[in-house]
Amino acid sequence: MANQRVYNFSAGPSMLPLKVLERAGAEITNYQGSGMSVMEMSHRSKVFDQIFQDTQAKFRRLMNVPEGYKVLFLQGGASGQFSMIPLNLIGKTGKADYAVTGNFSNIAYKEAKKYGTINVAASSEDKNHTYIPAQDQLKLDPEASYFYYCANNTIYGTEWQYVPETGGVPLVCDMSSDILSRPVDVSKYGIIMAGAQKNMAPAGLTVVIIKEELAGHELPYTPLMMNYKTMIDKDSMYNTPPCWCIYMLGLVLDWLDEQGGIPGMEAIKHNKAQMLYDTLDSARLFTCAAEKGSRSDMNVTFRSAGEELDAKFVKEATAAGFTNLKGHRNVGGMRASIYNAMPVEGVEKLCDFIRDFDKNN
Ligand SMILES: *Cc1c(COP(=O)(O)O)cnc(C)c1O
Repeated sequence: MANQRVYNFSAGPSMLPLKVLERAGAEITNYQGSGMSVMEMSHRSKVFDQIFQDTQAKFRRLMNVPEGYKVLFLQGGASGQFSMIPLNLIGKTGKADYAVTGNFSNIAYKEAKKYGTINVAASSEDKNHTYIPAQDQLKLDPEASYFYYCANNTIYGTEWQYVPETGGVPLVCDMSSDILSRPVDVSKYGIIMAGAQKNMAPAGLTVVIIKEELAGHELPYTPLMMNYKTMIDKDSMYNTPPCWCIYMLGLVLDWLDEQGGIPGMEAIKHNKAQMLYDTLDSARLFTCAAEKGSRSDMNVTFRSAGEELDAKFVKEATAAGFTNLKGHRNVGGMRASIYNAMPVEGVEKLCDFIRDFDKNN
């Protein structure tokens, strides 16, 4: 059945490495002689504790997480973090800076406004979020409790190519759609958060890397489950964590290790994206949505000569085994999400398909 799999270009949930799925399948009824599935285990059991600790250790090693930072395995999605971040951090000065470069940072911005005074430090709305503002365009408030941005704009297909300099104001970043795809200097950040379903694991797990000293200053009405301190003190086990997803993350991290870790993956994913952008740039019918210099290596947004032709492209691509290429309604056209688990071969074949379509239409 593995040979009937399609190349799934979904923005999320998205492809997982075949090897990971096969390993999970082999272990699904009896995990390593325990006589039960990981889905059936107590989160306090010895067997699961080992899975949890190993996954944490692998994640810390691969992401190079320094001392003084905690890695949390939470629920509620990246969207839950849109509330959790201001609830826990804004109390310091009552103010925060937000860079609005797409759909998700805009939602995060609107949510944060409930809890304090939010300064839009930069916005790319003037050009329908087709670019990332430069460092010298950021209007920074030195009194901000934190500076918030979204590293990769999943819907618009843009990606920050630099880490903002904020003069000591803690950086908070949504890395949902590009975590584990490029090296990150964690020590530059206060909080990094990501929903798992793009580049890490099935939906249901949210990974947070937090500088410990930032926790414990939450607003007084912060819900128990949204308090970083609660989760740090209980090592993400205040309540039942998303056990199965944590196990799956562990398998994905083993696979990532085999790809040469994050530096290895960076080369692979950049090569895939470059191949696709080169194909689109040299095609007659196609144009990319994002400006050069801001283009995402994870979500490639593009369009053909018109809406009718876009629809034809998507239809024919689907029939040929390339699924979920229709773009988000905010952007139109097409979007190919080529996360870590998309095989190089999938992108090569899509490029062939694009070239043929370009010739025949
Ligand atoms: C998918 C996505 C989200 C939303 O994630 P949920 O886990 O569904 O809440 C937020 N930010 C980015 C960058 C995303 O790609």
